[in-house]
Amino acid sequence: MTKIRLRYAPSPTGFLHIGNTRTALMNYLYAHHYNGDFIVRIEDTDIERNVEGAIESQFDNMEWLGISPDESFLKPIDKYGKYMQSQKFDRYKELAEKLIEKGFAYKCFCTPQELQIEREEQEARGIVATKYSKKCLYRNDIDQLKDKPYNIRFNVGEDQAIKINDVVRGDVEFNSKEIGDFVILKSNGIATYNFAVVVDDYDMQITHVVRGEEHISNTPKQCLIYSAFNWTEPKFCHLTLIVDETKKKLSKRSGNAMFFISQYREQGYLPEALFNYIALLGWSPKGEQEIFSKEEFVKMFDEKRFSKSPSTFDMVKMKWINSQWMKKLSDENYLEFTKKFIDKSKFNIDNKEPLWLNSVLMLFKKELEFGSQINKHLDIFFNDVEVSAQTKETLGTLSDYKEMILSLKNELINLEDFEENNIKKIISMLGKTFEKKGKDLFMPIRIFTTLSEHGPELAKTISLLGKQKVLKNIDSLL
Ligand code: GLU
Repeated sequence: MTKIRLRYAPSPTGFLHIGNTRTALMNYLYAHHYNGDFIVRIEDTDIERNVEGAIESQFDNMEWLGISPDESFLKPIDKYGKYMQSQKFDRYKELAEKLIEKGFAYKCFCTPQELQIEREEQEARGIVATKYSKKCLYRNDIDQLKDKPYNIRFNVGEDQAIKINDVVRGDVEFNSKEIGDFVILKSNGIATYNFAVVVDDYDMQITHVVRGEEHISNTPKQCLIYSAFNWTEPKFCHLTLIVDETKKKLSKRSGNAMFFISQYREQGYLPEALFNYIALLGWSPKGEQEIFSKEEFVKMFDEKRFSKSPSTFDMVKMKWINSQWMKKLSDENYLEFTKKFIDKSKFNIDNKEPLWLNSVLMLFKKELEFGSQINKHLDIFFNDVEVSAQTKETLGTLSDYKEMILSLKNELINLEDFEENNIKKIISMLGKTFEKKGKDLFMPIRIFTTLSEHGPELAKTISLLGKQKVLKNIDSLL
């Protein structure tokens, strides 16, 4: 069996985001499941829209996510041609001219103004999907126009069925009536997307084209080009949309969700978690399990399990999956990872005892959803904090705690070894003496010692805050 070959073909008009990552990732899984090749090719023919640094940034973020190409402009194989469209202009020109020779394409000398007039005339006649009139296909003054600039247009047949067997959608049929004679090579010598993509997929012997559903309307045009050259089409696979919670296509304007991979990196998400969640957008495994590694996804990938309806990007789920991956980190890796996200301008960790700092960070290992969330928890350990109005209110709902807190204060003053187990003993003794348990016991103690009504394991927290700070906290509220 020949090796399958798939490609992710970004245009360097922007940075890696959830949408194009999903495309890259599905191509990667599809290819690697069948021991095929995953290729990254740059579609940079739209020169004005190219964004500086976009290519480097996309490669860097893909590498971080573990979606590394087997071939790219950094790892090329000569026989497949160049991996960047801007280096293939001669190739596109040669092939466009071949199509003219074969009668599948023709030179169009119409100026933008003439085309505009044509469009307006059609619109005036109530035509919504305006098409080029084929004027230049039939004109007989070509010889006089020789020196004028021209586009090369594909000559689309009048009434021809174009069938696609899409991996996700099954049979989809188009009719050439709906397609005007489209430009394949512009007068400036630059190939258009629909032409270049076919030439490249052919040159690179791509077997499967996996991309977003916004490209499905381009596919019949591409099929016409394959057929004109007598080339075998790849298998097409158009992934359904990723939408936000308002059911609009996920974008940088989507409210809750972050869009760019770099944003997740900056906030302290793990690459394994992003890979995990993005692989579940528009694809699902059998069964209920949701946490999988890249290797597991590669193994269980199945092209029959692409979803036929849009998938909603859910930030809550993204965070949950990240928290699961954070829990899986060894303590050592968790500490190293979390420290990178501490806001050093607010929390001066340099003058702290390293073991103390590690213990404080470990308090939150089970609950952090992402790295930079640690900053929400550090205030009580580093700074003087004020009790919030909410906590004061909670305190107001509790009764009868004054004696217990005074006793707690006394016990803590006299405690020599300010250590977790000793503090636990004091709390349990207080429970017995004052006949309190559960919330009535713990909540007042927590609020008085930590100035907050929420937090991790109480005795450990008190021990890490240290005697001086805890007594100061109690006094501030008494
Ligand atoms: N350059 C296209 C895009 O970024 C890729 C289209 C394709 O995969 O054919 O959407």
